[in-house]
Formats: sequence, C-alpha cells, structure tokens
Amino acid sequence: MSKDSSINQSEQQRQLALDVLCALREADYEALFAGGCVRDQLLGITPKDYDVATNATPEQVRELFGHRRTIAVGAAFGVIAVLGKKGQDPIEVATFRSDGAYVDGRRPTEVLYTTAEQDAQRRDFTINGMFLDPLAQESEQVVDYVGGLADLEIRTLRAIGDPQQRFAEDKLRLLRAIRFASTYDLQIQSETLAAVRQMASEVTVVSAERIGMELDRLLRHKNRSKGVEQLAKTGLLKAIFPELADAVEQTDQWQGRLEVLARLQSPSLPTALAALLSGQTSPKKAKALCRRIRLTNVQGEQTAWLLEKLPHIEQAEELPWPQLQRILVAEGSGELMELATATWGGKHPGVVRCRELLSQPPEVLDPPTLATGDDLIAHGIAPGKHFKALLDYLRDEQLEGRLNSKDDALAAAKQWIARE
Ligand code: ATP
Ligand code: MG
Repeated sequence: MSKDSSINQSEQQRQLALDVLCALREADYEALFAGGCVRDQLLGITPKDYDVATNATPEQVRELFGHRRTIAVGAAFGVIAVLGKKGQDPIEVATFRSDGAYVDGRRPTEVLYTTAEQDAQRRDFTINGMFLDPLAQESEQVVDYVGGLADLEIRTLRAIGDPQQRFAEDKLRLLRAIRFASTYDLQIQSETLAAVRQMASEVTVVSAERIGMELDRLLRHKNRSKGVEQLAKTGLLKAIFPELADAVEQTDQWQGRLEVLARLQSPSLPTALAALLSGQTSPKKAKALCRRIRLTNVQGEQTAWLLEKLPHIEQAEELPWPQLQRILVAEGSGELMELATATWGGKHPGVVRCRELLSQPPEVLDPPTLATGDDLIAHGIAPGKHFKALLDYLRDEQLEGRLNSKDDALAAAKQWIARE
C-alpha cells in the first residue's frame, strides 16, 4: 500500500471512530479513544487503528448500533466491533472493565465492568493506559490516570502497578515490553526491566501464536536489532528460541548477527528470521522453529530456503550459471539479495555479480523453455520417473547456451534417453 493511501485509510478510521464515539455520547454514555491510538497520536505517529472505550455495556453498544452493524468479537472481555463502510476495518468498542483474577498466566477468569479510571489500571504499560477525548479543547484532551504522559515525555516504558504482578498475570506482556521499548525507542524503567529479566523463562506459557505475532511486529520494525539485543539480554530470546542459547554467548558472532539485522531495509518476517538464524541453525531446524511459533508453512519454507541459498550468493562467482539462475529467478530472490547485501555489503563480489545478472532483460535472465514436457510427449517421449531429470538436463543445456532451438532440445532429449 502506498503511504498516501495508508494515511487516507487512517483518516477514514479516525472519522469512523469519531462517529462511533459521538453516537455513544449522544445516547448519554461516556466514550473515549483508548490505548494504542492515544499513545501514537501523542508520539506524532499515524495510529494503525482506533479503539473506543465506554461505560455502555456490550449489550447497550449492540442495541445502540444495531445487531447487523455489530459483531461480538470479544464477548468475554466486553469488546464489540462496530462496522463501518464496506472494506473499512471495524472500530472496537470496549466497555470499561477491570480484569478478575489471572490464574494461568494468560487471561483473566472474569471481567467486571467499571470506570475509565479502573480500566486504565488493567492495561499493561503507562504509555498504553491513556484515554483521549477528541471533542474536548486541545489542552484537555488527554485523560491520564497512570502517568503515561510524563513517561512519554521522558521516553520510558513502565508497567502500570507492580511489574512482577502484571507480568505474572499475562506473560505475553514480557515480550510486549521489549517490543514497545524497541519500536518506540523507549528506556525500560528499572523495576519493570528487572521483572522482565526475572520472569523471562516463563514466557513459554503463552500461546505460540501470540508469541509469533509479537515477534513479527518486533522483527519487521526498523529497530529490530535493538529489540533482538534486548530479547537476548533479558533472557527472553533463549526462552523462545533455545536454538540460539549458545549463539548469544559468542560475543563477536552475535554482534555480527545484530548488525546484519540492523542493515536490513524492510524485510519480510522470513528474511528477518533468516538473518537472525543464519550460521546458527540448519535450514531444516529453522523450518521446525517456524512451525513451533505457528508461522505459515510458506513462511517456514521461505525462511529455510533463504538459509539454504545464502551461501550460494557468497560463492556466486564460482557457481555454474544454471544453478545460480534457478536461485535468481525464484520468487524469493529479492529477499535473498536483501539478506545477502545486509550480510556482506553491496560491494561483495558475489552480491555484485548477482545484481548484474538480475539487471539483464527477462528474456536473457529467464529465457522461455525450448522444449516443454508436452513437446517431449508429443514427440513420443513417454513421461516416467526420469522425466524431471530430463527436463532439468535440457534446461541446464539451454542456459549453458548449448541448445538454441526446439529441434536441438528434442535431439538432445533423445540422446539423453539413449544414454540413460
Ligand atoms: P499496536 O496495535 O500498535 O501494537 P496497541 O497498544 O494498540 O499497539 P493492542 O494489542 O492493539 O496494542 O491493544 C490495545 C490496548 O489494549 C493497548 O494499548 C493496551 O492498553 C491494552 N492491551 C493490549 N494487550 C494487553 C495485555 N496483554 N495486557 C494488558 N493490556 C493490554
Ligand atoms: Mg492496536
């Protein structure tokens, strides 16, 4: 998506959130913007989405907007999504609540509907615990019960309340602490940091999906290297990826990994993961690791492919053209080049050669096949278990410039069969 259209989309989201907020106010309920969107606005960042918090109960919210325009997305937590126009993301409306006891380190057993002030207390960090009244005078818009404004001012990430207790309630917050601190360039307040360190090994009680989603946010952000460094220093990285336990002890190599991560421009998750894992795990183990944190099969395969092909780029000068060509025309080659460039720099001979080759016209880089499988069958060559090997052989010969027409290819195919 272009920058303009994403800003435009955010503007539309804000308008929808504002409409929802006004409708609640007109029905005499309290309603405020809450959480991440308030933080982002104060930081001068375009919010990704807008959340509205209210004293209306979920049933009242549904009644006000109508059942057809609402979805009970988080009924157990009192969250109702209010739909906008077609194609627009809905606005989540959450009833002010305080969470009951947490027993399993992941979620509360019950929720109680309360006031905005108490709702602020159940949120994770002070910067995430503020409300905003967009209809108030500018100087009075922020409603801050937790000291979030002051913490933003001194660029500090601080747990709301007792950090140990807050992390014990929901251990995903350990990871969120590092993600917010790195993406927003914040210092983690000392007791909050001490609690993260102390409890890091417990992050594994959290579902793999939630861990995977936080890692995705952290690794794709431009401050990923700082984030990973903090994950390592606090012990979270080792807890999530035991495969990297030894790697972080090897200071020089580890610094190298962090530098590669920092040099990536705008990597996909597989590219960032491959940068982290390169030299530390085999492609096969990397795939298992991706499966463990519930990435898609495609993401797992991409990560493994990048790790497997990266050494070929380093040796691109010595690699036979047909072998290199298949790598360069593969779908992930752009990402592979990004990883290679971050690893050895743009002046590395292998990287330079690949970039030159990639800049050739498509018909040179990836010429149409002279004889397809169908062509071979049409000329009486029966498909069988050697068929793929034969096609590969013909492709190699073509790329080496030894075949120039379909007739050449068919003749070569017949010779190959006679030989095999
Ligand atoms: P972003 O969406 O940019 O990642 P966010 O702060 O909006 O950041 P969300 O996960 O969308 O994060 O959550 C919205 C708000 O809900 C947060 O700002 C915070 O107040 C609260 N919140 C979210 N997750 C937790 C949690 N695990 N513990 C406590 N509060 C949370
Ligand atoms: Mg959000």
